[in-house]
Amino acid sequence: MFSQRELDRYKRQMMLFGGEGQERLKKAHIFIAGAGGLGSPISIYLAVAGVGTITIVDMDVVDQTNLNRQILHFDRDVGKKKTASAEEKLQALNPDITVNAIDVKIEESNAVKLIGKANGIVDAMDNYPTRYLLNDVAIAKKIPLFHGGIRGFYGQATTILPGTTPCLKCIFPKAPPKEVFPVVGVTPGIIGTIQANEVIKYLLGSGDLLAGRLFIWDGREAHAEEICVERNPACEACGSLRTTKKPAREEK
Ligand SMILES: [Zn+2]
Repeated sequence: MFSQRELDRYKRQMMLFGGEGQERLKKAHIFIAGAGGLGSPISIYLAVAGVGTITIVDMDVVDQTNLNRQILHFDRDVGKKKTASAEEKLQALNPDITVNAIDVKIEESNAVKLIGKANGIVDAMDNYPTRYLLNDVAIAKKIPLFHGGIRGFYGQATTILPGTTPCLKCIFPKAPPKEVFPVVGVTPGIIGTIQANEVIKYLLGSGDLLAGRLFIWDGREAHAEEICVERNPACEACGSLRTTKKPAREEK
């Protein structure tokens, strides 16, 4: 059931997927790990699309050096908790959704509980140890992990469906070293928007996901390519899961 305000807000997208599709978005709960460069466009687009419950987790405070890319946070937010800033902006963008902004470090001891009954996990992190942890929880709960990563003008994205596609460990068995890397704000803008697009398609059950496909973006050349990725039967994270087939594409 939608209020008149919601019907008006979602009118142009309901032309695409109707009230039934909008209902699917409204009933959904998406967990976003990180309220930074990727988390900003992801959470903004999921909020305006009407994803009913968004949990966003971050432990950082807004720093001046974040502002070239973390568009959820404004100059006036420097020094504020990113979760407080995120909650305020997302709730102002769409007061008809529920936003849970949680100020905590995602760790092995709390990840399963934090993610709770979410229908999907969005990887908007900047470090591989936490990404691998999210990957483990996605596999344990058999829910998708929407991966994105960036550096400079380059980015990548893929959608992990546990048991169907390779997991993050199959694709990237070893973590690259943690470092402060260069980045221009448009790169997480592009990659985060692709991740949000994947979430929306997954929730609607329509379109073709980046499942088993690693999307690679080169912003300097304005060139995108994709490489097919395969499960590693000996993967330490997902090797014990039996392979199930990719859901058939549903035309809309
Ligand atoms: Zn794996």
